[in-house]
Order: sequence, then structure tokens, then C-alpha cells
Amino acid sequence: MKEPLLVSACLVGKPTKYNGKDNQICEWEQLKEKYHLILVCPEVAGGLEIPRLPSERTNDRVINREGKDVTKEFQKGAETACFLIRKYRIKKALLKEGSPSCGVEECYDGTFSGKKIFRSGVTTERLKNLGIEVYSEKTIKQLLE
Ligand code: SF4
Repeated sequence: MKEPLLVSACLVGKPTKYNGKDNQICEWEQLKEKYHLILVCPEVAGGLEIPRLPSERTNDRVINREGKDVTKEFQKGAETACFLIRKYRIKKALLKEGSPSCGVEECYDGTFSGKKIFRSGVTTERLKNLGIEVYSEKTIKQLLE
């Protein structure tokens, strides 16, 4: 049986990005050969629409470009990811770098000025706290070795 892997839906071609596009990676078929892919888009799972305004993390909140607080939706999306982790007994995840939900090492700083800081997304933070090994498209080779 293939090992389960939680994956940001946009990385395998699902058009779940805020602008209705995807972030498809060229390794997605290799990934599918090796793992049982469990897809999640935390922002959509949290109730946000496609398309939607981009959001960024501030200190302890998440706000969209017009200043609306969407923290609750982001937390709900993280809950969905945690539910899938438990349901499928997942130990590893591949998430999209830079996203306020899925960012692994970095995300935007909350000023909507394009500046990134060393911080994980809301969902990633939760998964790391559960002891999940989280990879991004930048470290995907380690998953395919
Ligand atoms: S929340 Fe995650 S899965 Fe959804 S579009 Fe953003 S990066 Fe992709």
C-alpha cells in the first residue's frame, strides 16, 4: 500500500489559488506513482471562495487585502487538514511555499508589500505541532528519493 501524503491541492493542478489559478509542479505524476495523495486546500475548506482577495498573516490574525479578518476561515481550514492527517494516518505533507495557509518556511509579512518573512502558514504550523514532516516544492526531491 502506498504511503499517504497530504498535498496542497494547487500543487497538483487544482485551480484553488486566490486568483483562480493553480501552482502545478512538474513532479506531480512521479509523486502520484509513489504516494497516495490526499489533497487539501485549507482556504477553500475553510469556506473562502475562488477567486478571493489575497490574505496575509499579521501578528496573530489573518487579514485580506481589504482589511477583513479571515482568521476564522484559516483556522477552520487548518482543522480540516488535521482531520485528514488523523483519518489517513498521514506522516508527511507537501505544501505550497509562501502561502499564508500552506507556507513551510516563509510567508508574506502582513503589509501587502511583497516582503516575505521566516514564518510558516496557519495550516503548516498546526501540522508541524502534530509532528508531521512538512516539505515544500523547494524540497520535493527529498520526497522522491
Ligand atoms: S491555501 Fe494552500 S492549497 Fe489552497 S491555494 Fe493556497 S497554497 Fe494552494
